[in-house]
Amino acid sequence: MTTTALLPTYARADLAFESGDGAWLVATDGRRYLDFVSGIAVCALGHAHPHLVAALVAQAGKVWHTSNMFRIPGQERLAQRLVDNSFADHVFFANSGAEAVEAAIKTARKYHYASGNPQRWRIITFEGAFHGRTLATIAAGGQAKHLEGFGPPVPGFDQVPFGDHEALKAAIGDETAAIMIEPVQGEGGLRPVPERCLVGLRQLCDERGILLIYDEVQTGMGRTGKLFAHEWAGPQATPDIMSTAKAIGGGFPLGACFVTARAGVGMVAGSHGSTYGGNPLAMAVGNAVLDVMLEPGFFDRVNDVANKLAQGLAMIADQHPDLVEGLRGKGLMQGLKLKGIEARTVIGQLRERGLLAAVAGDNVLRLLPPLIIGEDDLRHGLELIDRTFAELARTGLQAAS
Ligand SMILES: *Cc1c(COP(=O)(O)O)cnc(C)c1O
Repeated sequence: MTTTALLPTYARADLAFESGDGAWLVATDGRRYLDFVSGIAVCALGHAHPHLVAALVAQAGKVWHTSNMFRIPGQERLAQRLVDNSFADHVFFANSGAEAVEAAIKTARKYHYASGNPQRWRIITFEGAFHGRTLATIAAGGQAKHLEGFGPPVPGFDQVPFGDHEALKAAIGDETAAIMIEPVQGEGGLRPVPERCLVGLRQLCDERGILLIYDEVQTGMGRTGKLFAHEWAGPQATPDIMSTAKAIGGGFPLGACFVTARAGVGMVAGSHGSTYGGNPLAMAVGNAVLDVMLEPGFFDRVNDVANKLAQGLAMIADQHPDLVEGLRGKGLMQGLKLKGIEARTVIGQLRERGLLAAVAGDNVLRLLPPLIIGEDDLRHGLELIDRTFAELARTGLQAAS
């Protein structure tokens, strides 16, 4: 790779894109790629969706930014619509996932402070979690590779093994403010939390007087086939606070923190803020994304395609038992846990064949097609994966990786 003026914090593929249309991207050299990355679960409605483009262009000619010193009608409208379609009573807008998580952490701590329990400020998180790259969110995620070299981790996070109920119960103490969990671990390897466990977490939090925070930055806004992933577990599993981002702006930087009236009790004028958060451009696009997702039948179609993806991946797993250990994920965040080969090697091979895919922790090939993907494109993507595995098995390339 050539060196550039960019701080080299990413291991980028040597590939850049000129334009996009739906599930397809066109590279600067004219080659077309089927996009099963979607900008890491962001471009839920694909590229250059006409309704989103129209909303952004229309707003761009009016007003871009005013700051939160003033009312922003698009914010009030989007917040109301999100509240009408979720457990929440209030929404705070930020610009990214990590900021949405930071808002969630601050809201949880402030709740206990405002309710006379300022000693409750610690948050329990889970091994394999990913909550962002700010100082607090790397401490929350607890991954050594993200923390190393950045000084003492921000205090106040206690991590327990994923799925270890006894360790979780033992970790709750007098200083615990909340439990924070991704309903499906995204970066950590597409590991869904069983629905009954989300219900159990809700009960546990109520028993112990602590708050439940879901980090739905990746799972939220339709990725699993419902607007929010925790909805699969029913009304017994609703959180007090939830962060979301990625798909909520369809590619325009936007994050949001959802809060119940009770949990938000400490958040008053001056408690928190963001210069850009929820600016008119972001709100125009956010409202347009929601227009599309709330259309009748939108999620029926997503779930239909997700089932076909699951079936296709199951067939690939059956045919290549030497390379695939099992299926992972939910909805349109699914993948294959690989063995004997690095997921990184596989995505390079897929890219050669014109399919963009991602990796997740635990050596998982992660597929995140846009929610609007058509059946023909899905089938095409699955064929490319199947062919790539067949070729890898044939050439024994896995031995070399
Ligand atoms: C991507 C992600 C984040 C961080 O989002 P950024 O926009 O990169 O700050 C936080 N939590 C989860 C679950 C994520 O998938």
